[in-house]
Amino acid sequence: MSDAPPPVDTDLSTTCLNCGAQMQPEHAHYRCLECGWRDSCCDGPY
Ligand SMILES: [Zn+2]
Repeated sequence: MSDAPPPVDTDLSTTCLNCGAQMQPEHAHYRCLECGWRDSCCDGPY
């Protein structure tokens, strides 16, 4: 089946790079509620 991508406005800055779920803002960064991924905008990679 050829289905068009969901028409949601995907904000890459709040999209989980690991599973693609929408991340939620948590303190100084975003956290994915699906897989627990956190972006490292301020803390840096660790
Ligand atoms: Zn995720």
